[in-house]
Amino acid sequence: MRVRRLLLICLFLTFTLGARASETPAEHAASVYAQQELDAAPRHANIPDYSLSPDELAKSRQLSTIRVTLHFVEEAWNILSLLILLGLGVFAWMQKVAVKRFPGSRWAQGFLFLLLYLLVDFLVSLPLDVYQQRLSLQYGLSVQSWPSWLGDTSKSLGLTWFFGGLIMMLLFYIIRKYPRRWWVVFWGFTIPLVFLIMFAVPYINHLFNHYEPLQQSNPELVTRLEQVVKKGHMDIPPERMYLMKASEKVTTLNADVEGFGSSKRVVVWDTTTRKMTPDEILFVFGHESGHYVLGHIETGLAATIMGLFLSFFFAYYFVQWAIGTFGPRWGISSQNDWAALAVLLLVFSIFGVISEPIENSFSRMDEHAADVYGQEAVHGLVADPQAVAKGAFDVLGKISYADPNPSPLYEFWTYSHPAIGRRAAFATAYDPWALGMEPKYFKKQ
Ligand SMILES: [Zn+2]
Repeated sequence: MRVRRLLLICLFLTFTLGARASETPAEHAASVYAQQELDAAPRHANIPDYSLSPDELAKSRQLSTIRVTLHFVEEAWNILSLLILLGLGVFAWMQKVAVKRFPGSRWAQGFLFLLLYLLVDFLVSLPLDVYQQRLSLQYGLSVQSWPSWLGDTSKSLGLTWFFGGLIMMLLFYIIRKYPRRWWVVFWGFTIPLVFLIMFAVPYINHLFNHYEPLQQSNPELVTRLEQVVKKGHMDIPPERMYLMKASEKVTTLNADVEGFGSSKRVVVWDTTTRKMTPDEILFVFGHESGHYVLGHIETGLAATIMGLFLSFFFAYYFVQWAIGTFGPRWGISSQNDWAALAVLLLVFSIFGVISEPIENSFSRMDEHAADVYGQEAVHGLVADPQAVAKGAFDVLGKISYADPNPSPLYEFWTYSHPAIGRRAAFATAYDPWALGMEPKYFKKQ
């Protein structure tokens, strides 16, 4: 029964992957063109459709090496530090402190335990976090002061303590009530929780950044964006378009669609409106509205829920095995112990490493689809959609010193978006109208 259920999930994943990967002839031709361009150039070197100056290219190479190293060091450190702390009995000690301090109240015990956990976790990851922020300052990607950075870090720590604490209390209640089936019962609760978190994202973001209606500062831009909205038959009123004051903290560019249901909205960073031409912003907005129209938020939610099902299923068995084998050494007697949380989070850290390339492969497909959508959406609204899209990738890439031609393995494993060179080359070649072919999302008028 269980095997059959897993098989069904695998089949579903294969089908969704297959459906998303289907390409139109014009799209296929442009993808092949981009791949050939990348194959013809040496690694980390310029390609014809996306090139950096010698100084930018040198920086891009340094950053690329540092980022690859840092990425895997961080993943390994996450797992290793948990194993070390478990081995030293640190979590067992936290549990002892919490139980001794509040013998009569499980709520107080749970929240004290989680606070100690989060503080130790903060200290353990501090060196890498500080290094990363220093790097961003050094390369001019961030302009955030250290006090402001520390303020943001403390804010997210506080939020995790409060909301994470509530979720943890629910988890341990379910574990005690359903010792064998808690994984599926708790998974059931995570479904509304995932929706709730998704819904809350815009509100959480307000705690970290300043927003204003896009109409306030860029009314003529909103008028142009509405043309894209109308073309895609979308329901995004100008009141759902926001400008984020990203320049208070970073120099990099972005725009996104966030939230769910009534909180769903489009956010354009002010760094983007400052450094891109209105045509380029129109393309970026076209890309973002692609996520909106193509239902990427909904499929993302469904994938997360499926992923959680598999994770909790395996986590249950891993926790039993790990506590049965190492419990005495770690000072953890059963899954009911507060310290068992560390074992559960260890499983999720390991899953994170394994699922990273899978998640990123899905994400790159969505991002590519949004690129195609964006370019088709601005067709007829800008003079040269190919040049506009390529121009947008140029600005986007140069500011963050994006590697023109990264290693394919690293792109496959860690990139949530296709490499910027690939995107620029694709945009240059993607022109179904000139080839007399059918566009993918907008039928010929
Ligand atoms: Zn995107």
